[in-house]
Amino acid sequence: MNATRSQLTDKYGFDRWGKDWFIRLPNGNVGLLNPNDPEAPPTDLRAIIDSLNQRGITAPLLLRITDFLKHRIQLIHNSFNSAIQELGYEGTYQGVFPVKVNQQAQVIDRIIEFGATYDFGLEVGSKAELLIALSQNLSQNAALICNGVKDSEFIRLALLSQRLGYNTFLVLENPNELEQILDLAESTGIRPQLGIRIKLTHRVSGKWADSSGDRSTFGLTIAQVVEVIDQLRNRDFLDCLILQHSHLGSQIPNILEIRLAAQEACRFYTELAKEGVPLRYLDLGGGLGIDYTGEHSANVNSINYGLEEYCHNTIETVKLEMDAAGVPHPCILTESGRACVAHSSMLVFNVLETTHYDSDIAVERDEEEHPLLENLRSVENFLSPRRVQECWNDVTFYRNEIRALFRRGQINLRTTAIAEKVSLHLIQKIIKLSEESDHEQEGESQEEFHRRTADILHCNFSLFQSLPDVWAIDQIHPIAPLQRLNEEPTRRAILSDITCDSDGIIENFALAEGISSILPVHKIEEGEEYYLGVFFIGAYQETLGDLHNLFGDTNVVTIELGNNGGYDLVHEQEGDTVSEVLEYVEYDPKRMLDAFKTRIEKAVTKGDLSPSDRREMIKDFKDSLQGYTYYEH
Ligand code: PLP
Repeated sequence: MNATRSQLTDKYGFDRWGKDWFIRLPNGNVGLLNPNDPEAPPTDLRAIIDSLNQRGITAPLLLRITDFLKHRIQLIHNSFNSAIQELGYEGTYQGVFPVKVNQQAQVIDRIIEFGATYDFGLEVGSKAELLIALSQNLSQNAALICNGVKDSEFIRLALLSQRLGYNTFLVLENPNELEQILDLAESTGIRPQLGIRIKLTHRVSGKWADSSGDRSTFGLTIAQVVEVIDQLRNRDFLDCLILQHSHLGSQIPNILEIRLAAQEACRFYTELAKEGVPLRYLDLGGGLGIDYTGEHSANVNSINYGLEEYCHNTIETVKLEMDAAGVPHPCILTESGRACVAHSSMLVFNVLETTHYDSDIAVERDEEEHPLLENLRSVENFLSPRRVQECWNDVTFYRNEIRALFRRGQINLRTTAIAEKVSLHLIQKIIKLSEESDHEQEGESQEEFHRRTADILHCNFSLFQSLPDVWAIDQIHPIAPLQRLNEEPTRRAILSDITCDSDGIIENFALAEGISSILPVHKIEEGEEYYLGVFFIGAYQETLGDLHNLFGDTNVVTIELGNNGGYDLVHEQEGDTVSEVLEYVEYDPKRMLDAFKTRIEKAVTKGDLSPSDRREMIKDFKDSLQGYTYYEH
């Protein structure tokens, strides 16, 4: 690695969660490493954002780095192959990308391109996803796994796709599908490649525990499996059942659980083999997690294993089970979505303004001040590291008393404003003392205390649109400033988006020292563009987002890293315009403009607006319709 790392301690945990991808550059900016070319100098991420800005591509923006995606596909494939060789496994491995995890055309196109040499396939769970897969130039051996509830159109398309040279597997999700598939197979004369999805009883932990175990919604129960085999035998189609599928879960934190679930899947496989089912493929679904926090432990946002260990354990488990039952080693498939794409996208946004809960400005004393204000000021005389909590309590008490008097009309606006300023200044002094004293009193940790006084950074993005899992299931993604990493961050903050909703807040951060409710940030100077990056958001986030407050899709830029620290802009997709999001929610922008014009015309006729006001207002209305839904400078 050519670049020297920044000398300052790594507050944000880059070295924990991001060491293969990011580096802190000596100029304080985040650098992007090229995992496919470790000798290449890093590319300055902040410089990329600035140069995109100059081209008119502004934040918030979703940045996709194709090199990261390529690396993950290669790594997953190679890790499985290494385990196969090391353990003397006699079957092969094939990766499959579940389209639901990121359906964006730019992403799917790249996966097909990078995966071609490894016969990397696709998994689809709906008709729309099947159409995406059928429009791709999948290699002949790449598996096309059809899961999900299937209507007759879905079944017909999937079945006939075998004639087009696709390696399609129709996976039975429920027993009712079987008759339709077999009727069609008979009428078309196509022998289908059938799979059977088995509901494992083993329940894994983590945020997606419900997608595993007895109560999971998809797959056949043991009793149904037996019925399906009998039906297939009766109709002379048993030879078509060649794949067994089970989805172990998603972001499984503990490797032991993966082993146990894989073991159960193998038990089914070997039992089915004994029943005379000619299975050749074992599809273990998703579940391979990524370490969002860098903790390397079995916590919900982390994993206690690495990719190599996952591959080794999976191959070993299957080998042991197959050998014990004397069954030939199957071709193993996995449908790793998150582990494939999560690393390759990040969200970049700028801070619009800051609300402070302390102040460095002292307020001059007036000759005659309200006695409560006097009392408030007197707290300063008692400030000492030993009395942090006491001083905090006193400031809170007097400030609340003054606020109560204001509400009752017994104190005026100006006095109350002075009291607020005095309180903020005192709070700043108390915070400084608490840092010196390692304050912990009355059961409140220093972190909790700092959380109460943290700044709120108002940031140019929508949590609901761009980070839905952070809102819905408290997913933690690493977040860090993209600049000034060679300076000590002197402020603490939580982040608020620009939706008018108190839920649009981020208050869990993966830092070097562990999970924290506050993010260290730098004091933002007047006029400074301060950018924050949210990392590893390539899985699930891009299409789950909603239009809360009508903030639409962000600008999206796909880049490829150069070998000289530069980059190529591979693709640019402009974010939604206001007009587009209005159409999503059934407005007709043209009719809206007409209605607005009619209203304006009336005001001009009455003399309330001048004709030039009219022109300006209509121009603003039209420009807004065509503009970005986010804050524009
Ligand atoms: N396969 C199936 C059938 C799924 O339902 C899912 C996700 O829910 C996946 C694969 C992808 O899982 P992961 O993203 O954990 O790899």
